[in-house]
Amino acid sequence: MLKLLFISTPVGALGTGQGGGVELTIQNVAQELQQRGYKIEVVAPVGSVLQNIPVTEISGNLQIAVQTQGRDIPICLPSDSTLANMLDYARQVQDEYDLIVNFAFDWLPFYLTPFFYCPIAHFISMGSMTEALDQIMSQIATNYPHTIGVYTKSQADTFPFADTCTILSSAIDLSLYQFVSYPGKSLAWLGRIAPEKALEDAVAAVNITGTPLKIYGKIQDQDYWQKIQQDFPNSPIEYMGFLSTKELQQELGQSRALLMTPRWIEAFGNVAIEALACGVPVIAYSRGGPAEIVKDGVTGFLVEPDSIEGLVRAINQVDLIDRHKCRQQAEIEYSLTTLGDRFSAWFNQILATTS
Ligand code: UDP
Repeated sequence: MLKLLFISTPVGALGTGQGGGVELTIQNVAQELQQRGYKIEVVAPVGSVLQNIPVTEISGNLQIAVQTQGRDIPICLPSDSTLANMLDYARQVQDEYDLIVNFAFDWLPFYLTPFFYCPIAHFISMGSMTEALDQIMSQIATNYPHTIGVYTKSQADTFPFADTCTILSSAIDLSLYQFVSYPGKSLAWLGRIAPEKALEDAVAAVNITGTPLKIYGKIQDQDYWQKIQQDFPNSPIEYMGFLSTKELQQELGQSRALLMTPRWIEAFGNVAIEALACGVPVIAYSRGGPAEIVKDGVTGFLVEPDSIEGLVRAINQVDLIDRHKCRQQAEIEYSLTTLGDRFSAWFNQILATTS
């Protein structure tokens, strides 16, 4: 069985929410492959927590999230960089592994790929962000065929090397999410509170419909959050904090629908499949990952991007959705078994090409 070394996101410790959906993806891929007999070690920033997966914690200063910067930003590393320290550790232990799997959306692991003798698979978790990153990723896509994996086709299409990407989708441990037939009154909004997620659109919509909206997730940008509260002083919203998967699914199941209003091309949107697994319809802008997930009129509604009116119309119709169909879609398309099959096929293809 293969021995895999996973390199985690360097923007935050696993379990804090700072890294976004890739944190859950790392847990889920590691869990499924370990269960199949693969040997897995995850290298991650200090304080990282995974369920039943060995983690090697690496100290240092964290990377600044690339989506907060402009497209022309030069490559930046802090002093005593966690990312550099994680890669140095990987270099030292590489002969114990068949494959390194990089989940860091950063320049350094791509640049260092030719310097390692252990092959590296790169799972990229966002769409195109900076020129420098696009350039180094393109180089690796050309020189190391099949080594770049993405969540969705919409995400791949943001890159100049779209055709070379392996599309892997995402999945969740369905046994952790309970189906709820009869929800409460509230809608849910779930995710990192940061400008690219455009929470303000969801708040504007519920301000019109008067539907209570519960907001869950890490506040990544305090000023942005303050501004939303100031702009919509009497809106029916409530901030519930950042919850663990266990607590989150309990709350989520009680929701009438999940609102997903990203301004950027969302690479996937793990929150969409978490909602579906609880039987919760998803109302999302029709672009990026969510547009590939939601079955319009069946498991939620796809709305014209950036249209508050569209959100309002969808909210008014959402109780027509059969919640069983939502759970069913999650079971058919987003189980860990399907995810494990896709990732292991991808790894085998890389190893067949490099050996
Ligand atoms: N999340 C969580 N607790 C919360 C809110 C969000 O664990 O209270 C997690 C959620 O399970 C999901 C992630 O945050 O895995 C958000 O990921 P998504 O793919 O939707 O977006 P990203 O942050 O990667 O852009």
